[in-house]
Amino acid sequence: MLNANWNFDNSYARLPERFFTKIHPTPVSDPALVVLNRSLAEELGLCVEALAGDDGVKVFAGNRIPEGAEPLAQAYAGHQFGHFNMLGDGRAILLGEHVAPSGERVDIQLKGSGRTPYSRGGDGRAALGPMLREYIISEAMHALRIPTTRSLAVVTTGEVVVRETELPGAILTRVAASHLRVGTFQYATRFLSKEELQALADYAIKRHYPNGEHAPNRYLFFLEEVMKKQAALVAKWQLVGFIHGVMNTDNMTISGETIDYGPCAFIDVYDPATVFSSIDTQGRYAYGNQPYIAGWNIARFAESLLPLLHDVEEKAIELAQKAIAQFPTLYETYWLQGMRAKLGLCTEEEEDKRLIGELLHLMYTYRADYTNTFRALTLDEWEFCEQQFRDWHMRWQQRIARQDVTKDEVYERMRQNNPAIIPRNYRVEEALTAAVEHGDDTVMEQLLHALQHPYAYTKEQEQYAKPPAPSDRPYRTFCG
Ligand code: AMP
Ligand code: MG
Ligand code: MG
Repeated sequence: MLNANWNFDNSYARLPERFFTKIHPTPVSDPALVVLNRSLAEELGLCVEALAGDDGVKVFAGNRIPEGAEPLAQAYAGHQFGHFNMLGDGRAILLGEHVAPSGERVDIQLKGSGRTPYSRGGDGRAALGPMLREYIISEAMHALRIPTTRSLAVVTTGEVVVRETELPGAILTRVAASHLRVGTFQYATRFLSKEELQALADYAIKRHYPNGEHAPNRYLFFLEEVMKKQAALVAKWQLVGFIHGVMNTDNMTISGETIDYGPCAFIDVYDPATVFSSIDTQGRYAYGNQPYIAGWNIARFAESLLPLLHDVEEKAIELAQKAIAQFPTLYETYWLQGMRAKLGLCTEEEEDKRLIGELLHLMYTYRADYTNTFRALTLDEWEFCEQQFRDWHMRWQQRIARQDVTKDEVYERMRQNNPAIIPRNYRVEEALTAAVEHGDDTVMEQLLHALQHPYAYTKEQEQYAKPPAPSDRPYRTFCG
């Protein structure tokens, strides 16, 4: 029998017991591998052949627990569309933490693995379409150099899940720096003791922000570091036109990775009001709102840390308020840095923000495709005939000429920062339809292949750069 090389060391399971419930995945009738992430497996020091074999697939299905794993469902709470709820892993089970040969520690989680004490009304299961969608988009995000949870494998279960219709059931193996969320802290603050909250905070600091262990106020340091990570993350989303779709506080990680690919999607035309999620009727999580929501979530995080920030409540509030007041500036700094890079700007001028704002406004006015506008600039294939675009283009050219760098360097910088392709919604749907309805995985495999090198600007990729044909029906996403 081949050894998969799982190397578990389960630090989360050593937290106080109210942070989880020990529970095994519910076995499924007929597991089959749909997709395995070979390069990720290799990065993690796992044996690809073993993972793809019978025993490997049984692990991905929850039918076999690998040696050293200690399966559990995590407890957490969270604000969902602004309303506080007790949540927890209702359809996911953490097998444990795998420590790679590099020393990197990652959570190995099965999503869709059966009911848990936190399932409430849900069936604990997931459908194939949404799990493949998470696989495709999370891997695309990784290739775009955006911090994210990864996808190691998707298996079908041989069972159906009942949604609006009967759908094939599936389980995704998710790999994450951790699954600690803002909502994990909200849970501890609301329902557990101060000692338990402190144990969680110390654990998170040790795992993700070890420099904080010796900071004068380690919990303030922790808050500020999480803020920086989240500000940087959301700036990256905005820069590639990614809409998360469900930025509830339980879907915001402490590590700064993107998590929960339910209703997410990429914008085509640039419009800050864009919403794809069918349940986001108020536009709370619209594209242009994401930075504000991230700030709102950070404020909830700061609140959950108040008992630790200072012995005196007023002082704790003062510290937290001062810290979170920095969030908008932090975000804007990251965003501006990223926008300058997209436009090939290597120096900083006072007027840059206006130049960028004008381009976005023109894109909005003329309903220009966001990705392809930057793509055209990068390829020097600018074809806008409107006078306003031409004026803007001239001013941008003048701005570039004021830097002491060669044209080649400018365009190289742009190629590094403007993806030639993104996972276009219609392309993702096409791949999912082929895989789910026709059992044909080749469309998805080709798409995954193209998305692996979004900054490469190759000929083969060009077919994936086409914006969707105009449609009278808006694209809609669902939570899955
Ligand atoms: P999400 O909107 O994906 O962040 O999920 C919110 C909560 O609903 C989490 O506690 C999930 O575990 C839970 N949940 C989502 N789908 C299911 C399901 N099919 N069965 C049980 N719990 C679920
Ligand atoms: Mg979630
Ligand atoms: Mg979800």
